[in-house]
Amino acid sequence: RVEREVAMSDDAEKIAGIAVSSADRVIFDKSKLTKGDVARYYEAIAPAMLEETADRPLSLLRLPEGLEGERFFQKHPGKGFPDALKIVEITEKDGDAEPYAYVTDAAGLVGAVQMGTIEFHIWGARRDRLDRPDRLVFDLDPDEGLKFAEVKSAAFDLRDRLADLGLESWAMLSGGKGIHVVVPLRRTVGWDTAKLFCRGVASLIAEAEPMRFLSEMSKAKRKNKIFIDWLRNERGSTAIAPFSLRARPGAGVAMPIAWDALGGVRKANATSTKQALEHGWQGVDRPAPQTLGASVTEALERAFAAL
Ligand code: ATP
Ligand code: MN
Ligand code: MN
Repeated sequence: RVEREVAMSDDAEKIAGIAVSSADRVIFDKSKLTKGDVARYYEAIAPAMLEETADRPLSLLRLPEGLEGERFFQKHPGKGFPDALKIVEITEKDGDAEPYAYVTDAAGLVGAVQMGTIEFHIWGARRDRLDRPDRLVFDLDPDEGLKFAEVKSAAFDLRDRLADLGLESWAMLSGGKGIHVVVPLRRTVGWDTAKLFCRGVASLIAEAEPMRFLSEMSKAKRKNKIFIDWLRNERGSTAIAPFSLRARPGAGVAMPIAWDALGGVRKANATSTKQALEHGWQGVDRPAPQTLGASVTEALERAFAAL
């Protein structure tokens, strides 16, 4: 036992108070990011990242061997996870309670990295009121080969549609191919209402411009279009957390972006960890939580009637 602890302390590096083993292991070959770099990134970005991510149930995308190795999308923390990753028991559809991880500090983020986590995916509700979403996410998923300019126009159009319904939003480059548009909510409605509303907005936009958009998941029908993925807005669904690294070549970050800066962006996956740390939330105007009430749903009905 003593021997093992000594061996452990030999190659483990303390980051945010967590012993990070194999800190020199290269995770992203091309960008030369090591596990230690990943841990130090999350330690440094924690204050900005926790603003949106603290206290939400998480799914973790783990790649213990790096980008080329196996990957696990994990909803439930396993044995051996550090205590810094806190646990909330959540009753599932089948009535059984299952453990989910959540974090409140840098140690939680780094604890997840110690277990091989690269990506953090968050619920749209916080642990003190799991049945009341406080953020809606519209995830714009372009067909392969569609230009990023098309995705940007889609995000602006979605912003304007939401504004017509009385809802302000903010935008995030996913770090992959698309853009997420987020609406902060007061916690006055349940998941059914939230999901139905998001489906309604996606359908409205797709019906108005069927050549550009679709609101069904179908890849076959997506040719040259953008899928407005409203399915992130279900109890138990997740979306990539702001400032999460992406386990994709290039080591890009999911990066919040000011609406008036979005026009000048050339790709959704071009933000490095260094740039994310320099920028943080600068210039990103996150509206205060809004009410998904009768005035909004009535405005949606009127918009459908006007199609
Ligand atoms: P992109 O811009 O490239 O689309 P993205 O983060 O939006 O990046 P999507 O594929 O559109 O990626 O989103 C998938 C969402 O589904 C993720 O945000 C994640 O929360 C969830 N997800 C990802 N992998 C799994 C999985 N294996 N099982 C269940 N849900 C997953
Ligand atoms: Mn997406
Ligand atoms: Mn999607």
